Amino acid sequence: MTKTIKCGDQPGPGRYVCKKCGKSIRLETADEKIYPCPLCQYCEYKQG
Ligand SMILES: [Zn+2]
Repeated sequence: MTKTIKCGDQPGPGRYVCKKCGKSIRLETADEKIYPCPLCQYCEYKQG
C-alpha cells in the first residue's frame, strides 16, 4: 500500500522519497515533521 505523506506530517522515523524528483529524505525522530524537498521544494512524499 502506498500512502502519500505531505509537508507537516509526522510519519515517524524512516526514509521518504519525493514524488516529483525522487530525492529521499530521512526523519530520525517521531516528532520531526516532513519538510519541503531540498531539491525541488515539492511537498509530497511516498514511503521509501
Ligand atoms: Zn523533490
